[in-house]
Amino acid sequence: MALTDSSPLALCSFCDQSLLIPNPQLDSDRDSDSDCGSDCGSDHDSHSHSDSNNENLPTHVLDDVLYPCSHHFHWACILKHEFPTRDAIMFCPQCAKSVINPSGQLLCQVTSEGGKSPDFDLAPALLEEFDYRTNPAKKFELALCDACFIGDQMEVFQLVTGTGLEPSDELEEDSQEYQEKKKYIPVNINAPDLEKGWTALFYAAVAGQSDIVRFLLQHGADINAMDFFGRRAVDYAVEEKQQSIVELLSNYNSGSGSA
Ligand SMILES: [Zn+2]
Ligand SMILES: [Zn+2]
Repeated sequence: MALTDSSPLALCSFCDQSLLIPNPQLDSDRDSDSDCGSDCGSDHDSHSHSDSNNENLPTHVLDDVLYPCSHHFHWACILKHEFPTRDAIMFCPQCAKSVINPSGQLLCQVTSEGGKSPDFDLAPALLEEFDYRTNPAKKFELALCDACFIGDQMEVFQLVTGTGLEPSDELEEDSQEYQEKKKYIPVNINAPDLEKGWTALFYAAVAGQSDIVRFLLQHGADINAMDFFGRRAVDYAVEEKQQSIVELLSNYNSGSGSA
């Protein structure tokens, strides 16, 4: 057994199980050999027990997230831990010591079958897990921001209208086909992202997606929404020299209400 860390005997503080886990890279071979029971003694030529490709792989590997306070956790155990509040992520769930550095990072030593990362910032992953768990709609709101940025008009239409309909569809709302296609839940068009407080309109604006900017405005996007830095979408459009977007937003802003 190849040991890759100086503390292989430590246990996960959540589940009290060993941090040494069966090497996931060997799993597929185990499965393929699973029909080879104790009565298998006659013909080993047809299915070799030791795959030559995997002979050099260790049977067990470390799955270890080492906190600054010296507590150990399995990756899945810490990621799935249900922190009661967002702020609780700043403290070790085991000893309650503050584990965030002045830059807001939670620097851990993470070891897996892929190797060791001595200064891995775990905070973004924990915050993301927290936000998804407490607000399942967030996933779709962030998908809307992505779709606006890359210009995926179909995705934007479906997320905003809350339907699986295509823009060209003209179906009666009470028709069966409409009901079948109506599979999405509409997202809050003005929901800010977690990093910068940008709404979908910001992403469409900086990327120069004028059709999408127009569509968002027609569907209730707040043209004056501010991000975490107190700036609006039009400020970034100016900065990015997206002239058509600047005109679109300025004209819309000037009161007519129609872009
Ligand atoms: Zn565990
Ligand atoms: Zn601790």
